[in-house]
Amino acid sequence: MSTRRFAQPWLLGIACAALAAAVVLPFTASPYAPPELLTALALVIGGLAGFLAGPLLGLVAVLAGLGSVAVVVDRPGRVALALPVGAAMALAAGLLGARFRRREQERALALTELRAIRETAAEAIVDLDRDGAITSWSPGAEAIYGYSADDVEGRPLSALAEEERVAEIGDLLEQVRDGTTVRRDIVQRRADGETFLASLTVAPLGNGSGEAGGAVAVAADIGERARAQQNAKEADSKYQTLVMRLPLVTYLYAALDRSTPIYVSPQLEALLGYTPDEWLAQGDLRSRLIHPDDRERVLRETAKSARDDAPLRSDYRMLARDGHVVWVRDEASTVRDEEGNPAYIQGYLLDISEQKLGTEELERVQEAEREALARAADREGRLNFLARSTDALAASHDYGQALRQVAELAVRRFADWCIFDISDETGALSRHLVAHAEPLPAGRAAEGAPDENPDQVARRVVARRRAEIVPAPGSAPTTIPSVSGIEAESYMCLPLLVRERVVGAVTIISTTPGRRFTAGDLGLVRDLARRVALAIDNARLYAEVEERAEAARVLTFVADGVFLLDRPGVIQLWNPAAEAMTGLAASSVLHRPATDVLPHWQEIAERIPIESAPDPGHEETVPFETPNGERWFSMVGVNFFGGTVYAFRDVTEARRLDELKAEFVATASHELRTPLAAVYGAAQTLRRHDFALDEAGRGRFISMITDESERLSRIVNEILLASQLDAGRLDLTSEPFDPAELVERVVEATRAHLPATVTLGVALPEEPPPSVAADRDKARQVLVNFVENAIKYSPDGGHVEVGIDHAEDAVRFYVSDEGLGIPEVEQERIFDKFYRLDPEMTRGVGGTGLGLYICSELVRRMSGRIWVQSDHGEGSTFSFELPIAELPLPTVLGPELQEAPASGPR
Ligand code: ADP
Repeated sequence: MSTRRFAQPWLLGIACAALAAAVVLPFTASPYAPPELLTALALVIGGLAGFLAGPLLGLVAVLAGLGSVAVVVDRPGRVALALPVGAAMALAAGLLGARFRRREQERALALTELRAIRETAAEAIVDLDRDGAITSWSPGAEAIYGYSADDVEGRPLSALAEEERVAEIGDLLEQVRDGTTVRRDIVQRRADGETFLASLTVAPLGNGSGEAGGAVAVAADIGERARAQQNAKEADSKYQTLVMRLPLVTYLYAALDRSTPIYVSPQLEALLGYTPDEWLAQGDLRSRLIHPDDRERVLRETAKSARDDAPLRSDYRMLARDGHVVWVRDEASTVRDEEGNPAYIQGYLLDISEQKLGTEELERVQEAEREALARAADREGRLNFLARSTDALAASHDYGQALRQVAELAVRRFADWCIFDISDETGALSRHLVAHAEPLPAGRAAEGAPDENPDQVARRVVARRRAEIVPAPGSAPTTIPSVSGIEAESYMCLPLLVRERVVGAVTIISTTPGRRFTAGDLGLVRDLARRVALAIDNARLYAEVEERAEAARVLTFVADGVFLLDRPGVIQLWNPAAEAMTGLAASSVLHRPATDVLPHWQEIAERIPIESAPDPGHEETVPFETPNGERWFSMVGVNFFGGTVYAFRDVTEARRLDELKAEFVATASHELRTPLAAVYGAAQTLRRHDFALDEAGRGRFISMITDESERLSRIVNEILLASQLDAGRLDLTSEPFDPAELVERVVEATRAHLPATVTLGVALPEEPPPSVAADRDKARQVLVNFVENAIKYSPDGGHVEVGIDHAEDAVRFYVSDEGLGIPEVEQERIFDKFYRLDPEMTRGVGGTGLGLYICSELVRRMSGRIWVQSDHGEGSTFSFELPIAELPLPTVLGPELQEAPASGPR
């Protein structure tokens, strides 16, 4: 019962009073109720009311009770005597009740709090009975262990521990039962089997008698915390390590005084190899350790920072004890005291070597990249230069043109002069080409052009076959080199080498101040020189090949036979003329030994002169057996490095002509001498024996002289005429004449001196033949010749017949005899100049061999034809035909018509 239920205390007071009165009043009417008892009752009620409702209400109840008693008793005064006792009782009971209620309230509050804690605490709160069995299970316990209250209530606390720890729990509970609170870290097991470290506190719950009745266990999962602590510890250790390893040296110097060190951190030793003690002992150690290259700058910066009272920040190199270079960042500032006065200098040295090296490396890489780019550009330029030069060189076989282009490219790339000196086949060097940069820089014209002839440098380079570059790359030039009359800044001269031969030199000159040739330039020009040399060589080879091809073509068409024997004597060339002249096909002789395929080559070769160079006039005429009989070749051989070339002409005809000429001379001499001797003899006789001769005798001699002179003159005429015909200086006329009349005249004239053994007849057609158009005298000459031959070559006499017949367009004159006749094979050749069937005159018949030649030439010129029919030993018939006059004919037949076609055999 609480006073709070009585909202109005005074109502409670009235109730208490009423109660007291109500309790007391019934007893007043009872005879068994003396006043003392009633008074005691009122006091008890007052005391109760005081206990329950507080001292004041207790007092009210006492008053009401005692008042009621006083009303009914006889002596109310006596009741008043009990009033103090009642008041004291009410007060005491009231205080006692109030204290009781307060304690009840505190207990209820504690229970509430405890419940709240149990419900909300993260820890597991578990109530245990005296035997250690679980009686209650907090939500925290459910969260930590994973069991629900139903799962564990009634089970022992040890069921939560690891199997091995069960006994330990037993011990623990034993101690708790003895009244001790026990705290221990112990491994527990959750519902899912996982173990964890728990901080377990078990406290006994007293039953008021000092003996433990139960216990409460509080468990917290300390695994997480332990891990967190471990992590923190490790992090701390790492941090410490990190800090210790920082290449940071802190230092202190006295204010405004860098020569008085106050402190330096131990890392100094790691950074520079000096101990802090050394640093402190040697005030100038810092400045001494600065790299000499940086010292001046750093000291200047340090002094400036001191002067300006500004912080120092400087990167520089220091030399460590072992000599290695350490890049440091030095940052320092002056620390001031409260009054603002400088207290000391504080700073640090930070090792930035790696950073610096990184930067240096980066710069180096960038520099390398720039260089690589430049190199690539240069290489591209070179390739471009070489490619364009190669194109120019390959474009034509005129290397002069190509060199000009190459020189232009070279001066464009190298400046300022490019000179080509080229050797000819004999090795003589001559200046081929000079090119210079266009336009010549102002004032450069005064330098003048290079010499017109190859200079000493070029000659030397060609002779030694070694390139020159002046000044040598990398060397410092002491004097300005002069090349080809030019004061050069630098020059390169390279031999043009190909197939182990030097074909010239290329000189490239720089007159630009500072432009000196490098090894790279030399390499490039070397490349160029190789290409140029190759191009020159190619061009020359090409020309040579062309020449040879030309020669081969010439050999194909040349009229002379040409063949080539290599050193072992095998035929390597056999031209078409050789084929034609020898009758040996190239296919049958090529690549075979000459001795095997050329008849009697051994003997022939011995006779043929071999020259070292072609030298006409040294030919030797040798006989050569061909399938068509023996031919005479005029042959000469020329030796060359690969063998011998033989050239020959067929001189069979010429040789025959020569023979004929020789015979002619003999015959002509004889022919001339005979009549001359006769004339001479007759003349002598006449002179000596004039007086002794009679008329008839003298007449005989004179007639002899006349005849022989005529004969002489005829011979001379023949010779003259032949030579005129040869020279084409004979003019013929053409006029119609009667052939029959001509025959008659000739026969008539012949009859005058006809030998006795010969008879002469004329055969004319009955019908008069048509006129012929020709030179009458020449026709007569031909006919006379025929008749005279017929008589002459009928030494044994016989009949000679002269006649004509005619065809549609021509008249034939013929003379037939019964004389010696002409063998078939000779019939054609008797018309050749000087040809005589019987040159030795075995039959005693002389002649020049010109008669029939002249006849055939004349007839040909008169558009006629001439031929012979003969059976050897049975006479011959010589004929010639002349066109009849009705046919249109040119009036004058001149030498220009010598080529007129002759028909028939001749
Ligand atoms: P030649 O002055 O020797 O007579 P020709 O030119 O007149 O010269 O004749 C050439 C050759 O032809 C003669 O040497 C002769 O052998 C031969 N010949 C010419 N006419 C006759 C003929 N009627 N009978 C036989 N042989 C002849």
